[in-house]
Formats: sequence, C-alpha cells, structure tokens
Amino acid sequence: MSTKVLSYSHLNTRKDNTKNKIELLNCQSGGRNCKSHLSLINQKYSYAHESLIEKDYKNSINALKDAFYIATEIHESSCLSCAAFFRTTLTESLEKINKELHKMTSGVFKKKRYEPIYIESCNVLEEFKNNI
Ligand SMILES: [Zn+2]
Repeated sequence: MSTKVLSYSHLNTRKDNTKNKIELLNCQSGGRNCKSHLSLINQKYSYAHESLIEKDYKNSINALKDAFYIATEIHESSCLSCAAFFRTTLTESLEKINKELHKMTSGVFKKKRYEPIYIESCNVLEEFKNNI
C-alpha cells in the first residue's frame, strides 16, 4: 500500500510545480524589492526538488546553494526578514537531504558511494547555518 501512496505523491510533485515554491510572507515592500530575487530562488528551488526526485543529490544541493546565495543578495531593509525567511526555508530543505543521505550512509545497508555527497551536504549545511 505504501508503495502506491508514494508513487502517487511522486507523480503529483512532478506535475504540480506550485508546490515547490517559496511563498512571500508579510513583505514590507509588498514584494517590490524581493520579488525578482524570489522568482530566481524559486527556479532553483524547484530544480533542486526535481533533482531530488531523480536522486541526483549533487545537482539538488548545488541548486539550493545557488538559491541561498541569491537570498543573501537582498539588502533592502524592507526585505531583510523576507531574505531570512527564504534562507531558513532553503536550509530546512537541505537538512532533509542531509538526513536522507545520513540514513543511506549509515546502518547495515549503507551505500558507500553516497559518502562523498553526504559529507558535502554536511559542509554546505554548516555554511548555510553560518549565513542565515
Ligand atoms: Zn520582501
């Protein structure tokens, strides 16, 4: 049963791109100063999600990294909280990937080939947390 549910949600995620989007919350400039950044961030964010479905962790992490650094380029005072919110959301996504990779590289059925990318995800996560 769980397989059916999974493959259904898998299809759903691929088709419905609006789900893989960071929404604007309470922006003081009404989106004027951060909308263009957010649209770039969402392109990367959505690509990161697609790559994750394909189990292409490297691409997924790189896309999150790109998105994160776009968010660090928002300097208008009206949008500092928007930028922080975008970065927090991206960090949470990376944490999920990091946990998934941790599971895959530990325990009885660990897959050694995922070790380098797991280590990379730890480093990038550390980098994100220092820049939130
Ligand atoms: Zn804003």
